[in-house]
Amino acid sequence: MNVIDVILTKRDGGRLTDEQIDWFIGSYTDGGIADEQASALLMAILFRGMEPAELARWTQQMIASGTRADLSGLGKPTVDKHSTGGVGDKLSLILCPLAAACGAAVPQTAGRGLGHTGGTLDKMETIPGWRSTLSPEEVLPVLRDVGAVINAAGPDLAPADRKLYALRDITGTVESIPLIASSIMSKKIAEGTGALVLDVKVGSGAFMKDLDQARELAKVMVGLGEAHDVRTVALLTQMDVPLGRTAGNALEVVEAVEVLAGGGPPDVVELTLALAREMLDLVGIDADPAAVLADGRAMDSWRAMVRAQGGDPDAVLPTAHEVEVVTAPATGTLSRLDAMAVGVAAWRLGAGRARKEDAVSPTAGVGWRATVGDHVTAGDPLLELHLDDPARLKDALEALEGAVEVSPDPVNPSPLVHARVTPQDL
Ligand code: URA
Repeated sequence: MNVIDVILTKRDGGRLTDEQIDWFIGSYTDGGIADEQASALLMAILFRGMEPAELARWTQQMIASGTRADLSGLGKPTVDKHSTGGVGDKLSLILCPLAAACGAAVPQTAGRGLGHTGGTLDKMETIPGWRSTLSPEEVLPVLRDVGAVINAAGPDLAPADRKLYALRDITGTVESIPLIASSIMSKKIAEGTGALVLDVKVGSGAFMKDLDQARELAKVMVGLGEAHDVRTVALLTQMDVPLGRTAGNALEVVEAVEVLAGGGPPDVVELTLALAREMLDLVGIDADPAAVLADGRAMDSWRAMVRAQGGDPDAVLPTAHEVEVVTAPATGTLSRLDAMAVGVAAWRLGAGRARKEDAVSPTAGVGWRATVGDHVTAGDPLLELHLDDPARLKDALEALEGAVEVSPDPVNPSPLVHARVTPQDL
C-alpha cells in the first residue's frame, strides 16, 4: 500500500477502499505515516467528503485502533449524551446523575474545553479531590453501584482519534462533517454505551452556525451510531444565546448543583429534561426525570458520583478575587446576548485554553443576571466578569462589545430545541 495513492484517490474525488482505510488508520496510529501525508489526506477529505459506507469503515477502524468497552454484564441499560460544544453548557453534570437516578448507567467519556467552549472535565476538576482518570477496572463498579461516571478518554479509547484530532487542530481540518462525526462517534462507540443522545448545537456560539449544517452533522452521526448498533438520536438546539446564567468552570458547577437542588435557570432545566427524556426513551426506562430532579434523587446520585471519583460534594468551590460588573445599556427587553462573545470573554478571563497544554482557571468566567426575553433596567448590573488576573479584563471587555442589545419591544426567545433527528430521518 502506498500512502501517495491513498491521498490521490481522495484528492481526485474517489472513494477510499476498505483496504486503504484499514491500512491508513493502522499505520498512522502506529507512527508509520508522516504527519505531512496524513494532513494532505485530511485536507482532501475536508474538500471531497466521504460516502456513508466509507465513513462507517473509517470510524470502525478508529474504534479498532483501541478497545471497545463491553458493558453488557452491568445488568443495567447504558446510555450517554454528547454535546458538540457550547457556551454555558453544563448539562452533562446534571444529566449523568439524573439518568443514573432513573435506573440507567451512564459511562460518559468527557473532554476538556478548547477555544471558547467549556469542557466537562475542567468543570468537574474544580471540585476538590475529584479525578477523571479511572481505569476501566475502576469504572465498572462505579457504574454498577452509582450508575454514572464522567471520565477522561484513556490511552486505549480510539487512540487514532487522539493523533488525528491533534493534527486537524493545527492543519485547518477540524471543520469537516465526516471528520467531526467520526471523531465524536468513534470515542462514544468505543466507551461501550448502548445508546446515545446527541445535543448538536446551532448558532453563533456553536461549531455549526446554521441549521442545515447542524442537521447534516446530526444525520451523519446518527447513521454512524446505527452502523455500530448504538441507538442514537440527536436534538438540534440553539446556541445563539449562552445557556443558563454562567460560563466558567466552578461557576457552572455551582449552577448545575442549583438545578440538582430543584432550582436553577429555566432554560437549563428545560433542555436537561428534554435530553433526559430522550435518553430514557432510547433504553426503555419509564421514569419521569422532572420528578427525579424535584424529589432529590438526582442530587443523591450526583453526590455519590462525585464521591466515587474522589471528590467532596460538600466542599466550597473556589471563587475569583475580583468581580467586575457591566451594567445594562438601556431599559427594555434583552434582545441579544451573544453566545460567542460571552464564550470568548470567559475564555479570555482564564476559563478556557488556547492550546491543549494550557491550564485553566477554576474561578474565572462570566455571569449574566438576565437572558434574552427578560426585562432589564438601564444602569442595573447585567454582566459579572469573574477574574483573578486584572490584566485580563481589557480583552474580555473588548470581546463583549456589541454582545448585548436591549429592545423597547417585547422579545420572544427562540425555542431551545429546533429539531430532532432519528434513524427514521436518514
Ligand atoms: N469534538 C470531537 O471530539 N471531535 C471533533 O472533531 C470535534 C469536536
